[in-house]
Amino acid sequence: MIYLDHHATTPCDRRVVEAMLPWLTDHFGNPHSISHEFGRVAADAIQAAIDDLAANLDVPADNVVITSGATESNLLAIRGVLCHPRQQRRKLVTVTTEHPSVLDVAKEIQADGFDVTFVGVDDQGLVDQQQLASELDDDTALVSVMWANNEIGTIPDIQAIASLVHQHGALLHSDATQAVGRIAVHARRDDVDLISGSAHKFYGPKGVGFLTVGNGNRRVRIRPIQVGGGQQRGRRGGTMNPSSVIAMATALRLACDEMQAESEVRELRDLLWQTLSQQIDGLKINGPSLDTDSRLVGNLNVMVADIEGEAWMAATPEVAFSSGSACSSVDPSPSHVLTALGHSESQARRSVRFGIGRGNTEDEIRHAAGLLVESYKRLSG
Ligand code: PMP
Repeated sequence: MIYLDHHATTPCDRRVVEAMLPWLTDHFGNPHSISHEFGRVAADAIQAAIDDLAANLDVPADNVVITSGATESNLLAIRGVLCHPRQQRRKLVTVTTEHPSVLDVAKEIQADGFDVTFVGVDDQGLVDQQQLASELDDDTALVSVMWANNEIGTIPDIQAIASLVHQHGALLHSDATQAVGRIAVHARRDDVDLISGSAHKFYGPKGVGFLTVGNGNRRVRIRPIQVGGGQQRGRRGGTMNPSSVIAMATALRLACDEMQAESEVRELRDLLWQTLSQQIDGLKINGPSLDTDSRLVGNLNVMVADIEGEAWMAATPEVAFSSGSACSSVDPSPSHVLTALGHSESQARRSVRFGIGRGNTEDEIRHAAGLLVESYKRLSG
């Protein structure tokens, strides 16, 4: 089985597992029970891990909130900013190609009576900056634009968006789940006020993520979603898990130190494209062209002329990849990202996504490409 679905999740790095293990066994103290040594050891270790994580995200350590993953981080960012009791502004602006964990929260708060606008994208998946500018007004509290798209890998000019958003006195949140560990994500330098991330997308474990709240450049207030206990400066109640915080910080440090390995991922992705496109007539790339910097180097999303992605997947059980949208296969409807690019439902259903990662080898890619071509030819007759 060849794993080409690194946007859905990545395997946990063994060095990360090693770093977390002692915090499940030997050092089991509650990091919030600091009246004794067991708790203090755990509290110190969590603090060191958060300092490390914060340094790699270019944000003050006090501004990091540990969550259960990016779904929670996105919820906390959006509801947290809009529903803060001192928030005067009532408008959220986001983009049609965001992950459901942003779009569904946006729809929910719209139903609650907030003013919500969904800005469109061009055929590369880049946010329409003119439309974005025209939507920003004195009532806009928050703009949410993802740092890298999970289906087609589009990377917008986040600094330009940040400056536009700040000109109108609004805050910028970015769902950087697919960007963290793959490209540089610097809260202060790029001037993004809130950033969501999830450890399992950068070779850490599942069930732990973060939200950065403020980057030191302006004040950001969030109302907590999970209250009770007062942990994390009252921003998220509940006992923290030292092993997963340490794992996430270790994973991010390794990812940042080894980011140059992404250029090898790019070569493998290009090899996959070349091999498939030479042998499958009419194969098209969805999203930005492969040679730009506005696309994640491990991402390949392609459309075939005549068969559905689901059928192609079922006919190629030796290769793990995904049809259309999915990080999860729960929703069978055609990808909202591909339809936002202007594709028809049929085109979206004829599309598949490959996510190449650091563990992949050239042999795997050649083998997978051979299997994919074979199953495609069998299906298309
Ligand atoms: N945002 C993006 C862009 C994602 O790709 C994902 C994972 N599919 C999420 C948010 C949700 O992350 P998690 O699984 O950690 O809740």
